[in-house]
Amino acid sequence: MPAARKLRRTRRVLLVGADAQLVTQFKENFGRAVALWVVGSEDSVTREMLNVADIVVVAARPEFSTERFRNLLLRITTPAVILFTGAREPYELLRRDFPLIRYLETPVDFSYLRGVLDSSELDRARLQQLGREHHRLTTLYQLSSSLLRVSGPDQLEAALDPGLPKMLETSLTLLTFPGWKNPVLFQHSPGGMSSRRVAMLSAHLRDAWDVLRPDLPIAWDWLLELEQGEVRAEDRNLKPWSFMSVPISRGSEVQGFLTLLPKAGQHVDEMFLQTVFVLTDLLGVVIQNLDLRAELEERANVDGLTGLLNRMRLLDLLEGELKRLRRSNVPLCLVMVDADHFKRINDTHGHQAGDEVLRQVAQLLRQSSRELDLVGRFGGEEFLVGLIESDESGGRIWAERARERLDDLRVKYDEEIIQITCSFGVAAYVPDGQTPPGLDELIAKADRALYEAKRLGRNQVVTYSSIDQDES
Ligand code: GH3
Ligand code: MG
Ligand code: MG
Repeated sequence: MPAARKLRRTRRVLLVGADAQLVTQFKENFGRAVALWVVGSEDSVTREMLNVADIVVVAARPEFSTERFRNLLLRITTPAVILFTGAREPYELLRRDFPLIRYLETPVDFSYLRGVLDSSELDRARLQQLGREHHRLTTLYQLSSSLLRVSGPDQLEAALDPGLPKMLETSLTLLTFPGWKNPVLFQHSPGGMSSRRVAMLSAHLRDAWDVLRPDLPIAWDWLLELEQGEVRAEDRNLKPWSFMSVPISRGSEVQGFLTLLPKAGQHVDEMFLQTVFVLTDLLGVVIQNLDLRAELEERANVDGLTGLLNRMRLLDLLEGELKRLRRSNVPLCLVMVDADHFKRINDTHGHQAGDEVLRQVAQLLRQSSRELDLVGRFGGEEFLVGLIESDESGGRIWAERARERLDDLRVKYDEEIIQITCSFGVAAYVPDGQTPPGLDELIAKADRALYEAKRLGRNQVVTYSSIDQDES
């Protein structure tokens, strides 16, 4: 009987399903050098036990519950060396996914076992694991800081590349937001997944919309079960059951997915999943921020009552247009529009009716102009329209048409029909090689023309150049 010899370090050994003889052999060979933990069968093994153990020796019976054991192994955070002995099949099934598993022939070769326990292999494996975690955390930190600096959806891809695929090391990393105009936000597939297949995946995700829960990742086998009839033979080549899609939510609403295809043999353990969840949570917050930002921007640019550009935004854009057109030698025409006797409308029908009239006037002005034209609310019942690439006669024609349509407008409010007319002042800038006017100057001209239209009896269009001629 060999005397128990000392190991360089005390190791914690978890012995699963061993018979009395094997237990005795362990005691005789290692004595106090190992802390021995004997468990009757794999069904009593817990994740905590696996995390604590340095080495796990499993004496497997043929009816070993491989699936349960696999799920446990997936969730280990501290890797142990795992040795199987006895029935060979469980070992064969598990070794593809878990590189640290070995098979021990019976009778157990204790000098080999001593070598494993003594070797630095265990320490090396742990160091490697720590190195991986460190790498993952560093990348996660870098990703977070670049994601938090994103100020528009178009910047998301740059913020995620190349950190995201580097961190997850999956053979497919796909970020999709099915409801967005460009649903595929990020795609990395070094294996070269075709865009057709990516499109197919995205379509699957879109179809699965109704059954999704924001707090639950989905594995593809489950999804496919739901739609089984629809999976074509060709699609099966994808092996979709190995995909994982993690929802990205804004509040309680699913907005998108991070879909991953782990590499063959990739260790998808608890730490990996935690990293993915931190990332999808973060993406959810980023998406929410982007939405809020867009909303704020819109509020800052848009007039609350009419939905037209507000004065500040309008002036900014006009200033920009004026500069641009000056360079390209193209005219710009301003039309100042003011509602006639608007005070009376308020007085007769009430302020709320007046608001409704302003809304409809605004809508009519917007509909009468081209998409590129700038239509804004300049003040109370006054609007300013910038007609791009239009000279004064073009502006006059536009204003005349708008005036007629406004004249025909009937606003129904509280069973009453309200009529409205507007006066128009038109002034244009046509590049002529001379020093161009400032925006203020051009607005003042349109205003002067508007004043003239009021003076001449309202409900009419006056161009700035026509008053110039009258006065000279
Ligand atoms: P004129 O034909 O000379 O332009 O006469 P007017 O009554 O339209 O002009 P005035 O500048 O004397 O009065 C403008 C009126 O528009 C007074 C103001 O209460 C009203 N007004 C301005 N902003 C709003 C608004 O947002 N809603 C409503 N209902 N009325 C507004
Ligand atoms: Mg008015
Ligand atoms: Mg006015």
